[in-house]
Amino acid sequence: MANSENKVMDFMSTLPGDDVRQIMWRYSDRYDLQMIVQSARSLARGPVARLVADGARNSHEWNDKKAQLLTGFDESGLTSAFMDPEEGGFIEGPKNLALALIAFELSWVDAGAATCSLASNLALSPIKEKGTPEQKLTYMSRCVPPQPGEDRTVWRGAFALTEPLPYVGVDTGVVSGKMRIVEWEDGKEPMLQVEKRGRFITNMGFANFVTAAVESDDDRIKGSAMVILEEGDPGLFDRGAITLKLVHQLSSTSDPILNLKVPASRIIGGYTVKDGVIIPNYNHGDVIESVFRRTRVPVGIMTSAKLLSAIEPVIRYHRTRFRGGNASTPGTPRFELGVQQKEDALQRLVDIWAAGEAGAAFGFSTVHLLDRFDPLERRKEKVLEEMGIKGGRAQMKLFKELEKDALEYMELSRLPESSRDNARLAELEENTLVQFLITDALANVFCPACKLWNTGVGATMMREAVSLMGGYGITEDCPGFLGQKWSDAQLEATYEGPEAVQRRQLSITMTNPLFLTQFSHWIKELEELDSNRPSTGAAVLSEAMKLWLWTLEYLQKTKDADGKALYHSQRHGVVFPLADALCWLLTVRQQILDVVELEQKGPENPVVAADLNGLINFFSDLSSVQAARAAGECGRICAELVYGFNRAETDGCDALQTFNAMRLGVDTKLAGSRLAKDRAATALSKVMIPEALDYPA
Ligand SMILES: Cc1cc2nc3c(=O)[nH]c(=O)nc-3n(C[C@H](O)[C@H](O)[C@H](O)COP(=O)(O)OP(=O)(O)OC[C@H]3O[C@@H](n4cnc5c(N)ncnc54)[C@H](O)[C@@H]3O)c2cc1C
Repeated sequence: MANSENKVMDFMSTLPGDDVRQIMWRYSDRYDLQMIVQSARSLARGPVARLVADGARNSHEWNDKKAQLLTGFDESGLTSAFMDPEEGGFIEGPKNLALALIAFELSWVDAGAATCSLASNLALSPIKEKGTPEQKLTYMSRCVPPQPGEDRTVWRGAFALTEPLPYVGVDTGVVSGKMRIVEWEDGKEPMLQVEKRGRFITNMGFANFVTAAVESDDDRIKGSAMVILEEGDPGLFDRGAITLKLVHQLSSTSDPILNLKVPASRIIGGYTVKDGVIIPNYNHGDVIESVFRRTRVPVGIMTSAKLLSAIEPVIRYHRTRFRGGNASTPGTPRFELGVQQKEDALQRLVDIWAAGEAGAAFGFSTVHLLDRFDPLERRKEKVLEEMGIKGGRAQMKLFKELEKDALEYMELSRLPESSRDNARLAELEENTLVQFLITDALANVFCPACKLWNTGVGATMMREAVSLMGGYGITEDCPGFLGQKWSDAQLEATYEGPEAVQRRQLSITMTNPLFLTQFSHWIKELEELDSNRPSTGAAVLSEAMKLWLWTLEYLQKTKDADGKALYHSQRHGVVFPLADALCWLLTVRQQILDVVELEQKGPENPVVAADLNGLINFFSDLSSVQAARAAGECGRICAELVYGFNRAETDGCDALQTFNAMRLGVDTKLAGSRLAKDRAATALSKVMIPEALDYPA
């Protein structure tokens, strides 16, 4: 084992490159994605970095300089990466991983540029997820850049949910945008008047179409919908006042005022007519849920990219900090290591890297999950259609019944082949609805968890990175643009639903038995992992996961000192912190699994194999450090929740003894975690970095 006491410690020689990342984030076999990473990177570290360095972030307005970004996205293939080949794209199948990699590369330099690239996809997403085949083909093809010989403008979109105060923000239910029927001639398409005022709408400076959430203002239309509005539609298409953003200035944001007459065929997903009433096939809530579940994950990945991007500039700054002057000559520690002679500077950078690593690991595993989920969801819809079930109660009843089968499947799949009913297992494996339920339960936790943890904790850790650059950190010309990245991270924590929205969703989805059963299995897997491969942090993590599970069950059945139920979706003081604790655990679990993947697959790649011991040592140490931090956070939160609602110290004694024993179990397993941090810090003082940062070039 790489870290065993008798072995001389290997340190990684250089910062991990693409070969390492392709293994850890599992796209070594995807040449198409490797190419898209290169394209996004050249754009980010070339034109995007130059825009930032030239001060393009110093204006709120969208201008010609910033618009070069759009041409860049088109020319480098990033725009059409979202489309299917029949729409003019070039990536087959689900694209969650592809989009996440693009977001990662762009936000490595500037997250505003990443947002600008993602916003058109966000506008298209309601159409992609729920649109009719005609809507899909029309708008996806229009948004593909013209091919050689074609003479047309590429369309861009904006997604308009948020409204001026006091309407839609965190609560998506309070829509004030309206739609009414203004013409409905016999046998013809009804015409709608759609009014929507938006607030903080990205891409509005140049969007040709808007996908807008609106509610019926007419007895002849039922409920709500998302509607496509085009700039050429009759009426008002006012792009509105420009948002005076402190962040993400390479994206365009404003408060549009839209009042347009459009055919009812623009209702996303279509509609039916019953007794003279238009019934949209999807209400705005359904569409938005399905969109955000996918688009929120790349946002989380954006913040993690920033943390990882901070490592090289900080190392370079620290190493060169004391060069020059009489006391500093080449070869001396002062000259070669500079600030890196100081333990604290190294160890804080380890913390930043560990958090970035955990977020990236979790984000990429979540987009892989979504890539599996996408086809499954479509198959599920087909199966339900064949069964004649159209959502609502019938679907809920069916899913409740199938939950038993899903649990059975999970139990069977854990048993040794020789002692289980393999025929039944195969049958359940083939059952689309069972598989859908299992994956859905995970996605419902992973997506909000990724958005919440990566952006929230990421923003805080980004401040640490800034502080390691001293005064330079809060200047515009800080290498790696760390100051801007810090404030940008706060927007990522806010848009597409701020932290409260993610916590609210988690507080419901994390109690799903289908999720909790998988969670329990992971505890056992981590214990096994630790017995075969110690020193990744798996031991302390599995103990912390047990503590979290116990605390959840305890809170669900316990009342506070005043006799009020503790676990209740409206009791944010209980359920929100518990959701936070879960996120710490989930992220680091994935980080550990990435180390295992690197250890298993690394030897197959000659570039990685050459430095494998050092890499494995370092990434194991990072995951150990992060597992210790996560376990600490989890322990602190659980202790506050378990003890904090009692009035006297002696209340609830019996249960608390169990809790105390479990918490002690967590603390004991911290053994080695600080040694891991020491080693990781040493590795940071030894690793080779390039002479100069590769951006702005
Ligand atoms: C630069 C930028 C770009 C954006 N781009 C878009 C876009 O393209 N399209 C779009 O539709 N929107 C966009 N937004 C809007 C963004 O999604 C919203 O700002 C965000 O969802 C929060 O809504 P709000 O600002 O109205 O916050 P509010 O709803 O006012 O919430 C403020 C805070 O109050 C608390 N809070 C509110 N409600 C609850 C609750 N129920 N439970 C607990 N706590 C609560 C939370 O702490 C929350 O963060 C953008 C915003 C910005 C700043």
